[in-house]
Amino acid sequence: FSTSARQVLSATGEKLGAALAYQDVTDLLRALQVKDDFVSSVSHELRTPLTSVLGHLEMLEERLDLPPEVTAQLRVTHRNATRLLTLVTDLLHVGQRSAGPLLLHRTDVDLAALVREVVEATGPSASAAGVDVEAVAPGRLVVPLDEQRIRQVLDNLVGNAVKYTEPGGSVSVRLRQAAGAGATELEVHDTGIGIAPDELDHVFERFARGGAALDRHIPGTGLGLDIVRQIVAAHGAQVCVRSELGRGSVFTVTFP
Ligand code: ADP
Repeated sequence: FSTSARQVLSATGEKLGAALAYQDVTDLLRALQVKDDFVSSVSHELRTPLTSVLGHLEMLEERLDLPPEVTAQLRVTHRNATRLLTLVTDLLHVGQRSAGPLLLHRTDVDLAALVREVVEATGPSASAAGVDVEAVAPGRLVVPLDEQRIRQVLDNLVGNAVKYTEPGGSVSVRLRQAAGAGATELEVHDTGIGIAPDELDHVFERFARGGAALDRHIPGTGLGLDIVRQIVAAHGAQVCVRSELGRGSVFTVTFP
């Protein structure tokens, strides 16, 4: 049931009482479920052919006998196919998540190694964008986590940090065991475009896109941080952001 309440006033503005309305929303919830299932299965079906397209494009790009203008066109096609794959993957996760509570498969994960791995994997695209990325993590820090989901969180946060940082800037992923409470803190710092103060409370909402990102025509779906927030919450952890427009941002995930 959905409920709403409203004050009832007389013509002269005198309070007469309150009206409570209860509405049966079973059909609405069922329709939402059908929509989520549809989004999930379509995006899942789209991923397979897209992955194949990307694989073949990569093989073509590696050929040395192609004229330079063909290589340049292949690169643009590759970039756009990658964007499409990201969008489809984001949609898949949104559909899956709304379909029910997020189920975690926790194991003991060396988060320090995972951080280094993600930073290393970001290396080529970051250096193509002229952004320096470093990992600052202890030798080993084991936390019970769903590795695949936390990798997704890291991919999103580090990917955003690189994407929203201009050439010459830097990104630093820092992991530490906070003193006292025994919490593990993961921070992604960037020297990028930043987020306006009035937008900070909204960046984790689905489809939210910041003005600075839109002004610069930086592509995005507004889904990544929504996914991050859901995964972090499922772990009983917290994510927050502080940022200064034109100077950079820090996203912090605190695991209990
Ligand atoms: P997307 O990046 O696909 O637009 P996200 O949900 O990941 O979607 O991010 C939502 C919005 O938050 C972005 O559009 C951007 O405006 C802002 N944002 C996220 N990360 C950063 C960052 N590191 N620096 C500046 N803005 C950011």
